[in-house]
Amino acid sequence: MAKGKSTYCTWYCSECNAPKKTTAYNKKNNETITKELSMYCKQCHKHVVHKRKDTKKGSK
Ligand SMILES: [Zn+2]
Repeated sequence: MAKGKSTYCTWYCSECNAPKKTTAYNKKNNETITKELSMYCKQCHKHVVHKRKDTKKGSK
């Protein structure tokens, strides 16, 4: 279990809305990380823009 306040974000396909992967990042890097990312979606069988959604772990 990592200490500190790292934030987790999940990437969702903008077409089929399926969650792709979860990435952990520091809040300091929050501004440098992109909000949209083009990734290959297995369900769409093509590259689709994925949108980031922040998720918090271990906090209420
Ligand atoms: Zn998709």
